[in-house]
Amino acid sequence: MILRNLSFKESDEWSWITVQIAEGHFDGKEMYFRVPCAFKDYLCKDRYDAFLVGLIWPAMKYGEDIIIEGTVSHRLLFNMRNYIQFLLQEFAPKAELKRIKIQSDIAPELKTRNNMVGTAFSGGVDSFCTIYDHFELENDEEYKINCLLFQNVGAHGSYEDTRTFPLFIERFKSFSQYPQEVHLPFIMEDSNVQMFLSEWMPKALTQTYSLNMIAGILALQGEIRKYYISSSQSYTENLFFGRFYINTMLDESYEPVLIPLLCTDLIEIISDGVQYRRTEKTVRILDYKPIQKYLNVCCNRRPENVKNCSYCTKCCRTLWTLESADKLELVKTQFDLNIWKKEEFRYKCRQRLISGKDNFAIDNIDFARKNGKSVPTYIQAFIVCMPDMLFKFGKNVLRLFLSQKKYQNIKAWAYKYLKLREF
Ligand SMILES: [Zn+2]
Repeated sequence: MILRNLSFKESDEWSWITVQIAEGHFDGKEMYFRVPCAFKDYLCKDRYDAFLVGLIWPAMKYGEDIIIEGTVSHRLLFNMRNYIQFLLQEFAPKAELKRIKIQSDIAPELKTRNNMVGTAFSGGVDSFCTIYDHFELENDEEYKINCLLFQNVGAHGSYEDTRTFPLFIERFKSFSQYPQEVHLPFIMEDSNVQMFLSEWMPKALTQTYSLNMIAGILALQGEIRKYYISSSQSYTENLFFGRFYINTMLDESYEPVLIPLLCTDLIEIISDGVQYRRTEKTVRILDYKPIQKYLNVCCNRRPENVKNCSYCTKCCRTLWTLESADKLELVKTQFDLNIWKKEEFRYKCRQRLISGKDNFAIDNIDFARKNGKSVPTYIQAFIVCMPDMLFKFGKNVLRLFLSQKKYQNIKAWAYKYLKLREF
């Protein structure tokens, strides 16, 4: 594929950088990254870094060499040719990625230095921990966060799903209060980078999330000089549990190795939060007052649930930690503690059963025991979870024998009329 005509354009609302693709599977298509016009200076208008990172997975899937009629950062180009392709092949042996050639000129090293230090803000524990350490507590101006980012590159659903973009906008609005309160610019960034992965969805959504997120960060090299990516795992967890995510989740397996390889002379991307386990982070941020108003860990994507549902995996994970630390009262306005009371034993039993291969489960169990709290025994957990396991088995059988459409219809009916909850 040939990438050409890197352009900057503006509409009333958005400023865009776009690249045209010629030849190969995406002949005639255009990839874009866009931000509200007020942040147009953030867009990197003279190098193809973001587009190269955004297209490396589909190019390797199709075995298409990439020819860039423009420039790429020297370091990124070197790493892309020598390391990143090998790393992606090791991460996803089943994806049959082919090593490709990348042809590009090298961007001149700039003498000027960017001003902004960013991180993503999603209201979750990982995100707040990075903000607490490197905005609230950070004294070193070189490393102090001074802007926050909210991207639409996969976390809100797939590009084709018509609910994704409205959900992204709605979530951005609901998360805007905190940045306003602490006077940090909050940048909304949208892209069609996922459109080029549609052939391999939904699997590609988690397989490539790190690449798409970093592509979006590199698109903002016009102003950002440092960027923290909040890791969900600690160093040791990544070492022991990362292997369970081979082929499925790049962020949970190879991200700490991948991140330094995607830095350029303009931007340093830092893997943050790897120095803590999740329970340590959850307890650490309790000293930060804004979390009592703004903590939002929920993965339940129904639009009416702007606040935490208090029964999804992420809500329960957080609530169990807070319960073990005797700090549930601190988040009573953000969660429904009555729902947690109803769900907690079943949740703990499920965690007990998966603790051998789930770092969050073993972390919460260790933390509860350290604080003198009881944890269900394996036998108790097995008995309590038996109906759920049978239900799951039934779902898998139905999925095997029914078409996708029929299966989805039955599932929707069951969740509506039997009032089932998805975990
Ligand atoms: Zn939830």
